[in-house]
Amino acid sequence: MSKIKILDPKIQNKIAAGEVVERPSSVVKELIENSIDAGASEIQVSIEESGMKEIRVIDDGEGIEAEDAPLLFERHATSKIGNDYDLFQIRTMGFRGEALASIGAVAKVTLETMNRDSEPVKLQYDGGVIAANEPGKARIGTDITIRELFFNTPARLKYVRSLRTEAGKVIDIIQRMALNHPAISFTLLIDGKEKLRTSGKGDLKAVIADIYGINVARLAVPVEARTPDFHITGYIVRPEVTRSHRNFINLAVNQRFIRNFRLSQSIINGYHTLQPKDKYPVAVINMEMDPKIVDVNVHPAKTEVRFSKEHELNALVEQTVREALREETLIPDVEKGV
Ligand code: ADP
Ligand code: MG
Repeated sequence: MSKIKILDPKIQNKIAAGEVVERPSSVVKELIENSIDAGASEIQVSIEESGMKEIRVIDDGEGIEAEDAPLLFERHATSKIGNDYDLFQIRTMGFRGEALASIGAVAKVTLETMNRDSEPVKLQYDGGVIAANEPGKARIGTDITIRELFFNTPARLKYVRSLRTEAGKVIDIIQRMALNHPAISFTLLIDGKEKLRTSGKGDLKAVIADIYGINVARLAVPVEARTPDFHITGYIVRPEVTRSHRNFINLAVNQRFIRNFRLSQSIINGYHTLQPKDKYPVAVINMEMDPKIVDVNVHPAKTEVRFSKEHELNALVEQTVREALREETLIPDVEKGV
């Protein structure tokens, strides 16, 4: 008798959840990405008990059509890509159609949504399947609540660290996303108290002030560079401000925050000897490029990326930082003899 069988979709989703939803902050990230993709201009996040008890994200995006509701929590169900050509042209934050399926497999979900073309709905999902359905509020946008995260995956529950650590990670994610989307107003409430709010007026320096404080923002120097392949923009903060780890170097590709050791090293190198040893700068850099030269499909969380022109990009970033600091006459210009 044959021994190989295809796993039940419920188990498939639980396995996938292990990769996409590691902890509360990964749920927050996925939900915010969906709000951004829906064109939201205001995103309000609230968490209780660091998100383990409840995570709620309310947006004023385009909403979801009632007809699509049964499919939402199916794996590989997405409205964002339609063919493999699209996969190499990714402009949206999401595309894998995995987040909601994964979240739905390990938590209880309530979704209230309304789209321009359909009636408002309010749905309760249990294991990704609609368990209750009632009319929703008439307001275009989406309001999604995740409760009892990991209630059915005890091993994962144990892995989640102290509530304080988890709350810190949620704050970190929201800060990064707000820095990459100055035109969106983000609010974060932790156990009912407002912890963070960005103005959403499209001014990155204002967001830097909202997040790192006005004194840091005052010392922020704009950077910009353009080559046929890349357009780099953002701010680097003058070396009077230092931090004891690299986490304050915010990198994004096409407004998607990424982690990349080599690129943050290029920024540090750009400061040359202006940074004391073991100290790191504060920087917010976005790198626009043709989606064809960046592969975001390396890891489910999409924070790791690969570039086909990595060397060029690293050199450009370092040079851009250096030039911005030179303009501030912090680095002597040997050729010009300044
Ligand atoms: P992906 O983002 O990769 O498409 P998800 O599982 O995160 O996959 O979401 C599935 C689909 O649900 C999305 O493609 C989108 O159509 C819809 N969706 C999810 N969240 C929202 C939201 N906040 N506003 C509008 N549509 C949403
Ligand atoms: Mg998504």
